[in-house]
Amino acid sequence: MRSLSLEPGDQELIDTARELIEKRFDPERHHVGVALRGVSGAVYAGVNIEARVGRASVCAETVALGRGLTVGETRFSVIVGLMHPHDENDAVQEIHGGAPCGACRELLGELMPDGYVILPVDREFRRVSVVELLPLQHTHELR
Ligand SMILES: [Zn+2]
Repeated sequence: MRSLSLEPGDQELIDTARELIEKRFDPERHHVGVALRGVSGAVYAGVNIEARVGRASVCAETVALGRGLTVGETRFSVIVGLMHPHDENDAVQEIHGGAPCGACRELLGELMPDGYVILPVDREFRRVSVVELLPLQHTHELR
């Protein structure tokens, strides 16, 4: 997987996501914090919403994108998601980065096709392009 170094402002996004999930962590409801930068430069943050009926749950990426779209931001450049451990049984016992799920990759591919996801690569945060994470995005057009 090809990855790039962080750019100015990326650490602010990581810090925002970390502070958010530290503050809002709830083992029953929220364990992921996302920070997203729109092309305007504004930052939108969101937490996941876990529901008792699993498929009613909403990813933090979707919440953050919804916050941006609601105020008129239509294109986004970079996103990061950090996960809080659920409980003492989780393998990783600290807040850590992770990759978006497949459904979120599709959404990111539509809303930020030229954008980047900040992920841990070889134990450091790096930029990975959305296209790299979703090389065969869904399309209605037959090719
Ligand atoms: Zn997702």
